[in-house]
Amino acid sequence: MRVLVIGQGLAGTLFSHVALQRGWDCHVLDAGLPSASSVAAGMFNPMSFRRIVEVWDAQAHLDALKASMDDFSAILNAPFLHLLPIHKRIANADYAALWNEKCAECPWISPVQFQDGVAHYGTVTGGGWVNLRSLIPLWRDHLNDSGRFEKRSIDVSDDTSEWDAVVDCRGMAMRDAPAGTPLDLRANRGEILTVECDSESNPSPVPQDLILNFGKWTLPIAPNLWRLGASYEWHKEDFESTPETADYLHDALEKELGCSSNLKTRLHQVGLRPVSRDRRPIVGPMPGRPGWYVFNGLGTRGVLIGPKWAHNLADQISGVSQTPAVVDPNRLTKLS
Ligand SMILES: Cc1cc2nc3c(=O)[nH]c(=O)nc-3n(C[C@H](O)[C@H](O)[C@H](O)COP(=O)(O)OP(=O)(O)OC[C@H]3O[C@@H](n4cnc5c(N)ncnc54)[C@H](O)[C@@H]3O)c2cc1C
Repeated sequence: MRVLVIGQGLAGTLFSHVALQRGWDCHVLDAGLPSASSVAAGMFNPMSFRRIVEVWDAQAHLDALKASMDDFSAILNAPFLHLLPIHKRIANADYAALWNEKCAECPWISPVQFQDGVAHYGTVTGGGWVNLRSLIPLWRDHLNDSGRFEKRSIDVSDDTSEWDAVVDCRGMAMRDAPAGTPLDLRANRGEILTVECDSESNPSPVPQDLILNFGKWTLPIAPNLWRLGASYEWHKEDFESTPETADYLHDALEKELGCSSNLKTRLHQVGLRPVSRDRRPIVGPMPGRPGWYVFNGLGTRGVLIGPKWAHNLADQISGVSQTPAVVDPNRLTKLS
């Protein structure tokens, strides 16, 4: 099987890895455009906090994620998967009651901890983060070393008849291609900070050994270094970082900690999350373009759900499984 993968963000990285695992002759192109994957925090969490429910198929996604990262680590000789507990701030007594009720049915959460008689936080296991900012460039070098990577752009109107299958992993750029695919893909804009504690003698009160979620979140990535994020905005698609958002994130953290965080911004980045209108990924044959497949719409949970859907798409291409209706690109054609 000769497969061309277009785009090497998270989706193209995961799919090309699966294709090579299956012994396919896989080549990857990337245009070097701004990508969501290059700014993502890389966190994963088996829980959805709004209603305190497990993410759809969480265990299967976690199993696929772990297997995928173990294999990347073996090939690239570097650690990428970091397991960390998540502390979810409990905002009020109703949320605390619901959280404790859900503990009976969710294997990932344990009962609310109290501080001075007040509900404080609940702990989630099974979460953590993947170091995408190391994985994606190292995988690109690996592909390049074996003559499987090229830095260049391609779009739907180009002749790709020499390939048995073309897998389109262009993220938001899929929407802007001149030939245009008819899919309804939406951008969710996010700003994220990398923050550092200034001085060893003035340690930060931000936890170093867990992910703290207080609506916003902190993720420790190295001694005295955290990601602090993120914003979620619709109807705005520029890449200009705004001082207002940085202030808003710092203020939210200081309110959560009840004191100054001593954190200084070292990096302030912006990205566009590719999202479908029903928030499900887009995985299957591209409407109107025989031989092309879409792997997109990974949204806010790309790290968790990407590995399992990459395998599913490879199964579709090799004819061993049908396209599940819930992720079928046809559901998103602009005319439907
Ligand atoms: C601020 C922020 C924080 C996030 N945090 C998390 C998180 O903690 N956990 C999580 O799971 N997700 C997170 N996400 C979401 C995550 O980033 C996305 O789900 C994922 O990165 C999407 O990957 P992708 O490969 O589909 O798209 P992208 O990463 O955008 O990659 C698309 C690639 O296609 C290439 N390309 C485009 N057009 C062409 C062309 N014509 N020819 C060749 N190549 C082309 C581009 O150069 C690019 O490399 C976050 C996103 C943002 C913005």
